[in-house]
Amino acid sequence: MKQKKGETDLGKTLGVAYGLCFGGLLSLALGCGIQYRWNAILGIVLAVLGLAAFVSGIVLAYARLRCPYCDASLMQRGRLPFEVPNFCPNCGKPLE
Ligand SMILES: [Zn+2]
Repeated sequence: MKQKKGETDLGKTLGVAYGLCFGGLLSLALGCGIQYRWNAILGIVLAVLGLAAFVSGIVLAYARLRCPYCDASLMQRGRLPFEVPNFCPNCGKPLE
């Protein structure tokens, strides 16, 4: 079965990294809100978990979002790319 674009390993990695980053930010924001309005301990726990998820999303993207040919990072100036580029920005080979 042929894989569709975006369902490849690079696409999956990007999806997971995005999920961790957005989920982490959401949890961080929620935790900060809860901390002031409702329950300080729960808020801090949520905020710390959110921060950990956010950081692991970035680390995952740095570690795994690489060109399979030349090993160049596919991050765009330290940020997550919106999607996996069609061609490697470093060596120009097509990325699956
Ligand atoms: Zn490359």
